[in-house]
Amino acid sequence: MSKKSGGPASAHIEVFGRIRPSKRPSSHLEVDYADHALSVTIPKGDGGLINNQKERWAFPFSRILDASTTQELVFETVARPVVDSVLEGYNGTIFAYGQTGSGKTFTITGGAERYVDRGIIPRAIAYVFQKVAERTEFIYEVRISYLEIYQNSGYDLLDEKHDTKSIDDLPKVTLLEDEEGRTHLRNLSAQLARSEEEALNLLFVGDTNRMISETPMNLASSRSHCIFTISIDARRPDSEVVRRSKLHLVDLAGSERIKKTGIEGKVLNEAKYINVSLHFLEQVI
Ligand code: ADP
Repeated sequence: MSKKSGGPASAHIEVFGRIRPSKRPSSHLEVDYADHALSVTIPKGDGGLINNQKERWAFPFSRILDASTTQELVFETVARPVVDSVLEGYNGTIFAYGQTGSGKTFTITGGAERYVDRGIIPRAIAYVFQKVAERTEFIYEVRISYLEIYQNSGYDLLDEKHDTKSIDDLPKVTLLEDEEGRTHLRNLSAQLARSEEEALNLLFVGDTNRMISETPMNLASSRSHCIFTISIDARRPDSEVVRRSKLHLVDLAGSERIKKTGIEGKVLNEAKYINVSLHFLEQVI
């Protein structure tokens, strides 16, 4: 599932549902594509007692994309309007939210096997550099940041110097708040990308660090939030005024529920951090 907030094109937050292909589609799930609504029905047990337990949950969406939806259509529907707003100077954010295995990384970053499976990040990068080349009335500077939030700490994934073996080898990023209540990320690098290729290289460096820092015992990427940020500075050749806007592409940690999964120890702790952060995110939205 994806969420986005855009500029003038969409003054409110839009929520898209993406159904991933499945060999055994759930019989509990019902989708009304015309009405953009999804419902989950879980029949209550017949214990012979009075049981007022809820059986059906309904969720409205801006739009629901079915299992056959291509990565290109996902980009066109969900991401392009947001990237267009960012190019106009507004900040924009796209979140992928869902359980582990539901297709968040596939949607945001893409599948590794086929070129057509590339996700929102590489497509947004290509689109930004295409537009920047077309709009000669501005001088643009594009910078990339890639932040991973694991438990309560931030890590800079664009670190090329270190020999990363675990997440603790990455530079730690701290969150600071100034007098005006604005938040700043200290120690998060913003690396200049002069071309699509340079930006894709940075994505590759970040994803490699993300993979290396997880072991089979600790699938950190599903237990952490990753935020890929494309920052765009635009300036007219005859002006000193710089307009800065940012596009945040967020691959959230899995949203599975603690009660249902019966986990304990370290994994339980991770889940607590995840649930607290997803709870705050929900409140902010
Ligand atoms: P998450 O990030 O939510 O844990 P992933 O993106 O890793 O989930 O997806 C789990 C698996 O399902 C991956 O192997 C991915 O390639 C596959 N997958 C997810 N969504 C799709 C899709 N729409 N089409 C084809 N394969 C998909």
